[in-house]
Amino acid sequence: MLPKRKLDELLPVRFRNGEQVKQFSKPCVRCGNMLQARDMEGAARLVEDHLAIAATARCPKCGDTFGIACVVDNTKRVRRVIIPSWAFGLYLRNLPTQAGELNPASAPEPRPQAGADEAPVPQPAARIEHRNVQRAEELVGRYGDKPIPAWVVVDGAQLNFERVELGDRVAPGEFLLDGCLVYRAA
Ligand SMILES: [Zn+2]
Repeated sequence: MLPKRKLDELLPVRFRNGEQVKQFSKPCVRCGNMLQARDMEGAARLVEDHLAIAATARCPKCGDTFGIACVVDNTKRVRRVIIPSWAFGLYLRNLPTQAGELNPASAPEPRPQAGADEAPVPQPAARIEHRNVQRAEELVGRYGDKPIPAWVVVDGAQLNFERVELGDRVAPGEFLLDGCLVYRAA
C-alpha cells in the first residue's frame, strides 16, 4: 500500500487530455478558512480519466480535522464521493501503481496522436451491455451528480448496490452500472 502523503507533494497531476490539477483547496468545515493541498494528507491518484482524492485535512487556523473524498474529472469538475474518506483512501492506496504515477513532476508528456500511416491501436473489447436494466426508485446516495439506485433488475435478476468502482474491476456475477456503480446478487 502507498504511504499517506501531503497532497501538495502529489500535485500537479496531468490528465491525458493535457489538463492539469495544480492545486486543490477546500474551506474548513468548521471555520471556513480556505485550506490548501499542503494542509491535507492522504492519497491523490489518477484513475483512468479522474483524479481521485482521499485525504484528511487539518485546519491551521482552528485545528479542526475532517475527511475529504472526491473525484476531479478531466474538465476539473469536482464531485463528492459518498463513501467515507477513510474507506476511499484505503481503496486508493491499494490500487496497483501505474507507470510514471509515483513521481508526477516527471510524468511523461501526453502521447502524440498516431500518424495516419501507423496501424490503428486495437481498442479493448466493448463491455457486453445487458439489454434490460430496471433501476430502483429508492436511492442509497449519490456519486457526484449520479443518483445511486438501491438495486437494479438486470435481465430479471435483482442485484443490490455494492460499491463505487473507479478502477473498472468487476468480478464475475457483478454488474457495472453507469461505468462506476457495482451491483451484485444479495
Ligand atoms: Zn478551521
